[in-house]
Amino acid sequence: MYDGIVQDLIDELGRLPGVGPKSAQRIAFYLIETDNDSASKLAAVIREAKEKVRFCEVCGNVSEGTKCGICSDPKRELSVICVVEESKDINAIERTREFRGLYHVLGGAISPISGIGPDQLRIKDLMKRLADPGIREVILATNPNLEGEATATYLTRLLGAMEISVTKLASGLPVGGDLEYADDMTLGRAFEGRRRVN
Ligand SMILES: [Zn+2]
Repeated sequence: MYDGIVQDLIDELGRLPGVGPKSAQRIAFYLIETDNDSASKLAAVIREAKEKVRFCEVCGNVSEGTKCGICSDPKRELSVICVVEESKDINAIERTREFRGLYHVLGGAISPISGIGPDQLRIKDLMKRLADPGIREVILATNPNLEGEATATYLTRLLGAMEISVTKLASGLPVGGDLEYADDMTLGRAFEGRRRVN
């Protein structure tokens, strides 16, 4: 334990995802020892992100405006919606350059252990978007783990009776992991090889 503010900094850093106590300590001392400018820049950009970044009112992606860059891009295909768990998954899929449609961010996955059911996810918003007759395909791109699979199964059942084609990414993605950890080529292939599930 350190005194006062040093320990506060370590504690706060330790609350970040993927940062263990040792890393928190290392980052804290880096920030304290580094020249003033870069630590201030980091603090400023965190504050600015918290103030300015919102969620797109259409798809739920992070955005500085009411609509994100993808939803407001006139060159995107409006007939296909790819359903993902988090905004960071959009980033992973965009890197593959395999997809030119729109996205829908659920805000997580069904997880009974964590008390997350369908009502906690942006599924109602998805259903509203699917009422648009111009949409021909919904791609389920949830993570290849237990929660992601449960979510995809739930959505397949929910959307199954609709006229829309529901497809799921081909297997071959690293099982148990996150979409974002798949390399671009594997993810691109999973996209190309997607199969219809309804
Ligand atoms: Zn959007």
